[in-house]
Amino acid sequence: MFPATVKINLSHILANWKFFAALRPHCRMVPVIKSDAYGHGLPQVAEALQKAGASHLAVFTTGEACTARQAGFRGEIWVLQGILPDEIPIAAELSLTSACWSLENSRLLSEYGQSHGLNWRLHLKVDTGMSRLGFMPAEVPAAISALQALPNLELRGCFSHLAVSAQPEHPVTRKQVQTFRDLLPLLPECCRENHLCATEGILNDLAPELPFARPGIGLYGYTETAAFAGKLRPAMSLQCRIASVKTVPAGAFVSYGCQHQLQRDSRLAVLPFGYADGYPRCLSGAAELLLQGRRVPVLGRVCMGMIMADVTDLPEVAAGDQALLLGQQGEASLWADELAAKAHTISHEIICGLGKYPQRVWEQP
Ligand SMILES: *Cc1c(COP(=O)(O)O)cnc(C)c1O
Repeated sequence: MFPATVKINLSHILANWKFFAALRPHCRMVPVIKSDAYGHGLPQVAEALQKAGASHLAVFTTGEACTARQAGFRGEIWVLQGILPDEIPIAAELSLTSACWSLENSRLLSEYGQSHGLNWRLHLKVDTGMSRLGFMPAEVPAAISALQALPNLELRGCFSHLAVSAQPEHPVTRKQVQTFRDLLPLLPECCRENHLCATEGILNDLAPELPFARPGIGLYGYTETAAFAGKLRPAMSLQCRIASVKTVPAGAFVSYGCQHQLQRDSRLAVLPFGYADGYPRCLSGAAELLLQGRRVPVLGRVCMGMIMADVTDLPEVAAGDQALLLGQQGEASLWADELAAKAHTISHEIICGLGKYPQRVWEQP
């Protein structure tokens, strides 16, 4: 059968990054390329950002940082989940900047630094309301003192992460921003690289005075903040060729569970793509795709490796034609935020999932 193809438009990612940079000219926009750059290919995205002049990247793990270095990224890399004990030697070799949320871990880094004659750049992670990684705000003064007493550590920055940043007026958002601002005077002079906002925080103008921010989903073209939805360019499209077109009589059921019964004699296009390829099964009964610049409904349940679309109203459609499950065709477009809304999830999960299995091609900037 014909393989489905995810196309990644790298110039859209760069354009989105520049869009963020223009919103806050005094602020360094550090692209978040964790989880295989949200399905867009970590090495390819890192390489494109290197060529475009990015000075920093943020990843979750040392392994991801390693991939970015192998792709030729020479700037500073922030490891947001911190460096695990057995990763310390490789992290030192790659000159990574580590999140710091555990003194025990910092001691290991310090010991390694002393025995190998190198300093670690650390960013203190504070939990202002996510209840995820990080020191509690009340623990921060003691943590700073403890870190300052450890040799070969440079506390360069402090950061936190917002829980409901698409809602700037939410009491938790207000409290998180205030808590973070209250911490800033407690930080030592050397701790200047402070950052709080990801995509929605930036677009909702939260803590604009900070010198760094960490946009992720926005770089790939998505935001929940309606005012900016049309301004970002989705970078991932997904095309799939029709394997078979057939005529099925009225009254027949389509797909597993007999959830859809045809009301008329219909032409159905079968496409070799399903939930095993990252197309959520919970889109069953609600999905659409693009063919010949028009939307057509996907009927019945999404199968593991196939879906059936109703092309009765498009008599010219034939096997081998290219359908778009994500993308733009003529006037019609269909993007991951729409799929996400129907699948009761967020665009992040859709693009991470779709980027995992189909073959990918990268359109170079
Ligand atoms: C994922 C992540 C980001 C980026 O978030 P987006 O909502 O995708 O912009 C920033 N900071 C941290 C700590 C993250 O985990």
